[in-house]
Amino acid sequence: MKNIAVVGAGISGLSAARMISQFANVTMLERADRPGGLVKCTREHDSLFHRVGGHVFNSKNKAVLDWFWGQFDQETEFLKAKRKAAILMDDKLIGYPLENFLWQLPKATVSAILDDMLANQGNTKKPEDYPHFEAFLRGNFGETLYNLYFKPYNSKIWNLDLSTVPLAWLDGKLPMPNLKQMLLSNISKEEEGEMVHATFYYAKENGSQFIVDRLAEGLNIKTNYSVNTLERKADGWLVNGVDQFDEIVWTGDIRQLGAQITGAPTVAEALAGVTKLRSNATTNIFCETDPTDLSWLYLPETKVKAHRIIYTGNFAPSNNRGHQRSTCVVEFSGTHNYDDIAPQLALLPGNLTPIAHNYEANSYIIQDEYTRARLADIKTKSAAIGLHYLGRFGEWEYYNMDKAIEAAMELSEKIRG
Ligand SMILES: Cc1cc2nc3c(=O)[nH]c(=O)nc-3n(C[C@H](O)[C@H](O)[C@H](O)COP(=O)(O)OP(=O)(O)OC[C@H]3O[C@@H](n4cnc5c(N)ncnc54)[C@H](O)[C@@H]3O)c2cc1C
Repeated sequence: MKNIAVVGAGISGLSAARMISQFANVTMLERADRPGGLVKCTREHDSLFHRVGGHVFNSKNKAVLDWFWGQFDQETEFLKAKRKAAILMDDKLIGYPLENFLWQLPKATVSAILDDMLANQGNTKKPEDYPHFEAFLRGNFGETLYNLYFKPYNSKIWNLDLSTVPLAWLDGKLPMPNLKQMLLSNISKEEEGEMVHATFYYAKENGSQFIVDRLAEGLNIKTNYSVNTLERKADGWLVNGVDQFDEIVWTGDIRQLGAQITGAPTVAEALAGVTKLRSNATTNIFCETDPTDLSWLYLPETKVKAHRIIYTGNFAPSNNRGHQRSTCVVEFSGTHNYDDIAPQLALLPGNLTPIAHNYEANSYIIQDEYTRARLADIKTKSAAIGLHYLGRFGEWEYYNMDKAIEAAMELSEKIRG
């Protein structure tokens, strides 16, 4: 059997390692002191803190669901919930997605939105016909909705000029309704139903930490092992000058890999083309909050720096152990000093009391128009010498957990040959 190293024990690496272990010897090399990557949680005074966001699971892919439920007992280990999301504007809660709840906005605003829609009614453009994200948002939703919600919210979360964001990258991850669908949703008062997390599964105990703990069971994982050098040898790869493998699956940050590779000049040269890809950090504050029935609250207004509150305390009763009220995560995109953003909590609903906070330097990946073509070239050149890429930062794709699992399935089949 081949010896394969999987670098990184996040959801991508753990899933791939389980799959590849069916036909090869797998060693996982993980820089941190425990597996999990972005989906790790900690218990703070016994309440569950999703250190990055608030991870819930679902998939539209039957093969992914079948594999996932092969690892867990859905009935006894998970809860199923319906997302209840809202948008906070002018101290009022408006339904999410906004374009389905226009009837909840002030009459003058609705009138301006209708003017935009009527002026736009001959527009037959599909999302892929727009040159970039900003043009799509303006063209599809009109200036009023763009300025009211889409521009401020997306500028906060992505922290960049929206005209530099290609649209192909976001297709399928955001609601992209046409004019008729928007009118229909408002007149028939339809809620959302299409998006992958409109309903979701959540572990009864320990949230996404439960998922990675289970996936890690029985795998050979070397923690506190940072892969710093990869040397191409005639018969495989030498990692950090000491450990020999036939093939490598890389789930770490692809921007850093080129500088670590020796003995494979073509691949190192191709990797030099992705060192400048942009990403966004997130700073999260875990808080005690007054109870609410919401799961997510979106915060487009520029007067608050946070862009979202995730009411993780509502995902499972065990998440609130140790606190009188409920708990939530307040998410700030970018790098912030805790002392600068903590006073912002007073601007948010729920009488928030901070419990803990976390900074994650790499949370959101940002593609440019060349990223996918460059990655395809790198993948082809690297696969020929037994080096494979996987995951949010390995493939530079805006993956959720289910997409990471789907990619792991495809890669595992490719390696099996
Ligand atoms: C705010 C936010 C909210 C989200 N919410 C959801 C959600 O609700 N549902 C959902 O399905 N998805 C969600 N996601 C997406 C989800 O987090 C990712 O799809 C998933 O965690 C990516 O896993 P990964 O294994 O590809 O990467 P990572 O989790 O980053 O794992 C990579 C691992 O590699 C290790 N590593 C890196 N470099 C090295 C090295 N040189 N040597 C050794 N080890 C190394 C790292 O330590 C890490 O453990 C969210 C993401 C964010 C940012």
